[in-house]
Amino acid sequence: MAYDQLKKDVWRANRNLVEAGLVVHTWGNVSGANRDAGVMAIKPSGVDYDDIRPEDVVVVSLETGAAVEGQLRPSSDTPTHLLLYQKFESVGGVVHTHSTYATSWAQACREIPCLGTTHADHLFGPVPLTRQLTTEEIERDYERNTGEVIVERFSAHGLDPMEIPGVLVPSHGAFAWGDSAMVALQHAIILEEVARMAFRTVMLNPSIGELPDALLKKHYMRKHGPDAYYGQRA
Ligand SMILES: [Zn+2]
Repeated sequence: MAYDQLKKDVWRANRNLVEAGLVVHTWGNVSGANRDAGVMAIKPSGVDYDDIRPEDVVVVSLETGAAVEGQLRPSSDTPTHLLLYQKFESVGGVVHTHSTYATSWAQACREIPCLGTTHADHLFGPVPLTRQLTTEEIERDYERNTGEVIVERFSAHGLDPMEIPGVLVPSHGAFAWGDSAMVALQHAIILEEVARMAFRTVMLNPSIGELPDALLKKHYMRKHGPDAYYGQRA
């Protein structure tokens, strides 16, 4: 089995997604890529999280989506994951969830404003919202087109997917990513938490604006900038 470690990592990230409370029923999935091998591994379609074993994780070609290893069908969201790997070259892991607060913002068709430093520590600005898919895009290649509108949102506004590692798709849910499946999972957890805080903040003060720009820059850059000084040296 050539992809044992990748499959184990993706299996564990899928389990952790459930343990983090981000999944109800089977709504959600995690994938991870091995770019040297040209593959990604993803949760099988419609299988209960409790029943998934590492060997059930499905490996597909990053280029074509063709199955490389595994007996089960890959998640139906596989074409969205594939497109994100193909277009966002630094991404090594992708998570999709219908987690409650992030999805509430998505269903309200609102981006998540950056209201405080918890958000600014991890995402360099609001969590963007894609446009709605057209009827044609929904009826044909729906999952791939979901990836296309995500990429379109980032490229049209000059956003760096590594600085803003998550997005909302209107009337649907959230996608998050990172340089591995585990980092993508962390970003999905953070996205849900900032969605929850922002929801309550807006309830308390509907006219609140975004945090000051200097505070956004200070908090993001001290963790992620070229002169980052937060945490311990690697
Ligand atoms: Zn979904």
